[in-house]
Amino acid sequence: MPELPEVETIACGLRPQLTGRRIVSVAVCNEGTVQGDAAAFARCVPGRVIAGVGRRGKLLLMELAPPDGSDGSDGPAVTDGEAGGADEARSAGTGTDVPTDASPDAPRDAADLMACRDVAGRMAGSGAVTGAARSVESGESGGASGNRVPHLLGVHLKMTGRLFVYGPEVAPNAHTRVVFGLDDGNRLFFDDARKFGYVRALSDADLATWDFWRSLGPEPLEIAAPDFAALFRGRRGRIKALLLDQTVIAGIGNIYADESLFRASIRPDAQAGELSPDRLRVLHGHLVDVLRESIAECGSSIRDYRDAHGDAGAFQNRFRVYGRSGQPCVACGRMLTTGKVAGRTTVFCAQCQKLK
Ligand SMILES: [Zn+2]
Repeated sequence: MPELPEVETIACGLRPQLTGRRIVSVAVCNEGTVQGDAAAFARCVPGRVIAGVGRRGKLLLMELAPPDGSDGSDGPAVTDGEAGGADEARSAGTGTDVPTDASPDAPRDAADLMACRDVAGRMAGSGAVTGAARSVESGESGGASGNRVPHLLGVHLKMTGRLFVYGPEVAPNAHTRVVFGLDDGNRLFFDDARKFGYVRALSDADLATWDFWRSLGPEPLEIAAPDFAALFRGRRGRIKALLLDQTVIAGIGNIYADESLFRASIRPDAQAGELSPDRLRVLHGHLVDVLRESIAECGSSIRDYRDAHGDAGAFQNRFRVYGRSGQPCVACGRMLTTGKVAGRTTVFCAQCQKLK
């Protein structure tokens, strides 16, 4: 499953292809791929403009804005001077499903990787929008009107999900689950061979009630080291199990748990509550390093992960323990130990990594 660096890489690749594009059509090829009401999804997503691409944990997010940047409700006018970006969308046609019942939306800086997540984080507490499908339209919060919140398209790739932008000449394949038609003639395909992935349209009301979203832990690249250490204070359970628990910290999977624990000289089966704050701060530093190094390498390519351009990442060439079962430790030369921790195959060095 793609972890934080892979999803971030995919978001970075999609951002220039999708930002500012209006979704003109949605074809759901497999209803099970759409969480919630698939018919409502296909009805309410067309007409929206993709104002940004980001992620929260392993969930890829597209911010959906009104096509004209302002939907004419009784809220205050857009004030950040970015409404011009909406003209393009208007000129491309607004014939489909222009929102009528929400507040102005200001397109945000699409280069801000965390924009979607930050705004969405604020959305969770607002709960101001009513429940009708069209009312998922929203504006940016944080201005004079706190109930103006954008809405989002969430995509969880799970095991085999992929997002690619293709020209109009490319036909859906047997694994294509959802096709988003774009106003430039291209199409965004969500392909997913094993069908564990999903797409989901998110209003602020949805976010306020979606347990998965509400329970997501902090972002490892944003949390301060002391706060990270505090996540595990008094916690029962093995450190690796807690790193994999998305409600403790978001975005970490088997690769980056094993790699960061090796660098921090902590055994994956160590009891988290018995690790000192100092050791947990060290772990945080290595976790941040390993995630950033992987992002710089466009993620790790194992099995069939590819980025938004179909390219493989390269961080797998830097693995020190993950997937190196039966090989010697890069630090001490001793044979690495392979076992199960938290139900996952786990590779570590019994000499370099300690329980406390
Ligand atoms: Zn070793």
